[in-house]
Amino acid sequence: MIYLDNNATTAVALEAIEAMTSCMQSGPTNPSSKHKAGECSKETVMQARGELARLLNCTPPEIVYTSCGTESNHLAVYGALAAAPERKHIVASSVEHPSCMELYKHLATQGYSVTYLPVDAKGTLDPATVEAAIRPDTALVSVMWANNETGVIFPIEAIAALTRGKGLLFHTDAVQAVGKIAVDLKKIPVDLLSLSGHKIHAPTGIGALFVRKGVKIPPQLFGHQERARRGGTENVPGIVGLGKAALVAQKELQAETERLAALRDKLEAGVLSRVSLASVHSAGAERVSNTTMIRFGDLEAELILERLDRAGICASAGAACTSSKTEPSHVLLAMGVDERGALSSVRFSLGRENTAADIDTLLDVLPGIVNEAAAIAA
Ligand code: PLP
Repeated sequence: MIYLDNNATTAVALEAIEAMTSCMQSGPTNPSSKHKAGECSKETVMQARGELARLLNCTPPEIVYTSCGTESNHLAVYGALAAAPERKHIVASSVEHPSCMELYKHLATQGYSVTYLPVDAKGTLDPATVEAAIRPDTALVSVMWANNETGVIFPIEAIAALTRGKGLLFHTDAVQAVGKIAVDLKKIPVDLLSLSGHKIHAPTGIGALFVRKGVKIPPQLFGHQERARRGGTENVPGIVGLGKAALVAQKELQAETERLAALRDKLEAGVLSRVSLASVHSAGAERVSNTTMIRFGDLEAELILERLDRAGICASAGAACTSSKTEPSHVLLAMGVDERGALSSVRFSLGRENTAADIDTLLDVLPGIVNEAAAIAA
């Protein structure tokens, strides 16, 4: 199998599996327990927290463990709103992940209003639009760091500086950025940042929210754990796995970024030269190095994906979380792509296990698959 869907989820790193296995074999783990076993797992969590903090260049107490990126986003948004109950306005981009978009739709039924910032045809965002959208009743600005569909990187440093200057809370969904680009939280003044373990070679079931020292957000789950910011007994094996995945990500970041960019460029050039109706979305925009979204004329992406799957190649159409439905991607629609084009686009997201041989195989089979799909559509 050739897995080109790493923005949906990643394989768990061997280092994480080994550390988690050893953690689970070492006995019961509840860091709140006062006995030796509890003390021991408290130390284990402390070490893992340090490992994740190093990847983000923040301090360990600024990390709050959650169950996933979705929970981190919810904790950040609900937390920011609860911290300023008189303010009922949120500024967000129009291409956020469904875990934020669905929450905003719900909040709109609860008396909140959301200003969705436009993106241009390449999917990039102008920080000036953030400034223009801020109102006296704005409680939070929340803009993702890297887009899960196109890979486009947003100007988070500029937006963070702007919101800081206005004394506003700023959250970024960095689920697709962490482990792919340098995230330096000492340098970039974001207040809240979400990440997810399973996107960076840790298992599912573990995520984290960075909460900058001094930023107060009330919990969604009450309990003494995580300094009363997120109740519930800690997922110690998951936390350990995330720590090890963070260590590997940090060690490999630069070399992997360059290697994946070369593979992505090879993929794009190969597809464009072999498939005349193909075009790359967000080409020329600043993107994370592993992601490319390619339009195949007006051919239904599903026809291509089914055939790729039969050939042993996994990719996806638009956001993975909505791939069971055939709704056009809201990200591509926001970029001005028409509905037909949005339904004809395939996302390839590369990862640590991919090699040049994988791309060669894809390039060998893709032209035939596209021809077959075109014959069916004709
Ligand atoms: N945010 C972004 C940008 C994502 O890509 C995803 C998952 O695809 C999430 C949030 C949700 O993360 P999780 O699956 O851990 O809930």
